Amino acid sequence: MGRRDEWLDLPGDPTVDGVDRRDFVKVCMMAAAALGLPAATGVKWAEAAEAGLKPSVIWLHFQECTGCTESLLRTSHPGLDKLILDMVSLDYHETLFAAAGHQIEAALHDAVAKGGYVCVVEGAIPTKEDGIYCQIAGRTAIDILQEVGGNAAAVIAIGSCASWGGIPSADPNPTGAVGAQEILKDKTVINLPGCPSNPYNFLGVVLQFATMGTLPALDDEGRPLFAYGRTIHEHCPRRAHFDAGRFVRQFGDDGHNLGYCLFAMGCKGPETYANCSTLHFNEVPDAWPIGIGAPCFGCTTKGVGFTKPLFQEAALPPNYVPPIHPSDQRGPITPGWAGVVGLATGAAVGGALMASKKLGEGETEGS
Ligand code: SF4
Repeated sequence: MGRRDEWLDLPGDPTVDGVDRRDFVKVCMMAAAALGLPAATGVKWAEAAEAGLKPSVIWLHFQECTGCTESLLRTSHPGLDKLILDMVSLDYHETLFAAAGHQIEAALHDAVAKGGYVCVVEGAIPTKEDGIYCQIAGRTAIDILQEVGGNAAAVIAIGSCASWGGIPSADPNPTGAVGAQEILKDKTVINLPGCPSNPYNFLGVVLQFATMGTLPALDDEGRPLFAYGRTIHEHCPRRAHFDAGRFVRQFGDDGHNLGYCLFAMGCKGPETYANCSTLHFNEVPDAWPIGIGAPCFGCTTKGVGFTKPLFQEAALPPNYVPPIHPSDQRGPITPGWAGVVGLATGAAVGGALMASKKLGEGETEGS
């Protein structure tokens, strides 16, 4: 990427390496919006980047598929990978570094010695048999995380594996895989679960820390409330179908083609906390599981993702009223009943969705 002052200061939104200032500021504003912060905060972040305020980041890989890094790099327009790499000083990353062996180990040592860095953990940490199932340069993941995470200014666990064990911890969890918080018991670990985690949630947390020195409010599982404070179900575009009792019963059936609710196919949206339904992946509309017709499998929520069987129905919200099954004791779903409920709840939920959509559009355009 070219020098930052070249493309931030020149008039007319010049383009350098395919990234112009307008796109750069736009991404910062999107990251701010993900945190529920005003657009002006995004502009402030962009200015901080202009001033050269780049936090040092040490990125550790343990038991994982590298999917979170891949997701980060596969974002399109304007290429979040370039922006990320330009806004932080990435001082150690095993996947992205050209160096290897003693060279990369020296880079890690130097970055830790400087201090003040953000430690990003991708992947679970095996604990059985003293952690021998994941070793790098002869050291166990436990040992590396205790040193690098223990001395970090902030620790971010990106993805479900680093947050609470994820796939490696699925029953019978042969390696005793756990999340970073289990190893760093005396430290606050910010968990950004997801398989993969949404890059904008990550960017928002890092930029907030870099520019304000603060961290977002967290829930009792260490997840930022701005991203994990609500269920997928609350903002799902198929919610009106759920409330009206219109369900997909088989992949490829008429209901599936019409975009009906995926609850009966095992969708875990009602018990999964994440912002996937409002913050899609790769800036592509509908680029998220339910958007392409697949049930949510609950990857962001411990005890749901990689734990409950894929087609097992989710636990329902306590105030749910319409019957799900035609054989339900409250009576079968009739076209007339479904129509009445659908009109009432659909209008209410649809109105709310449209209002929030317009609000979101207004914020983006006005920002
Ligand atoms: Fe959306 Fe799943 Fe809830 Fe249906 S059950 S409304 S598909 S989140």
